[in-house]
Amino acid sequence: MGETFDLGKYRDHVQKMAMEHLSAAKVPEGLTQMIKMAAEVAEGELEIHREGGEHIACRAGCGTCCALNVAVLFPEVLNIVEFVRTRMSPEEQQGIERRVAELFSLVECLGEEDRISLGQSCAFLDESGSCSIYPVRPLICRAVTSINASHCEEALQAATTGVDRPIFMNMFQKSLMEGTFIAVAEGLTQLGFDDRSGQLTAGVRRLLDMPELAERFLERKNVWSEQTMEE
Ligand code: SF4
Repeated sequence: MGETFDLGKYRDHVQKMAMEHLSAAKVPEGLTQMIKMAAEVAEGELEIHREGGEHIACRAGCGTCCALNVAVLFPEVLNIVEFVRTRMSPEEQQGIERRVAELFSLVECLGEEDRISLGQSCAFLDESGSCSIYPVRPLICRAVTSINASHCEEALQAATTGVDRPIFMNMFQKSLMEGTFIAVAEGLTQLGFDDRSGQLTAGVRRLLDMPELAERFLERKNVWSEQTMEE
């Protein structure tokens, strides 16, 4: 790894920038700009400090880990739905809406182990095994890597029988992306927004069904139902 990285200072920096964006946000686009900024800053730091890091086996077309619950903050949900609405064709949007609704009905009440046992991929994983929302994928998806793809398959298989198997990953990337998630959440807390996280599938389903949640969030009201909250 190149120059030393101070995670605490980084988090303070991201939180400050997130709060500046959030304070100025009067429309939902202001919220999506904030989360885009946070992801860009995190990716920029990753690029600077990537040199000399562990080999990462993750590639488009794998998608093995895309069968887990993913925690998201509500501005991430807004960013994803905006991407679907503005970048995808009407047919692609219909496909996403159908897959999200179907997956939600299957995973709504499942804990992590049952979710893995279900073996159902994320609604955003396309037929080639790539993430169809890659530019706006959640920070927690960006945190997960593996230095050996076969370890992921073995670990997921073992998890269905309640056995924990380690997956060796790039810990800098994990800390960076999780740190960004926490910094944004702390910014939301400071300014009185709903700072809770929920499941990706549930969040997207809710916002597709209830677009008015964007305005509700801006009014500092709760947007997650208790059933869709991250444990
Ligand atoms: S959002 Fe993309 S990267 Fe994340 S689990 Fe879904 S398909 Fe995988």
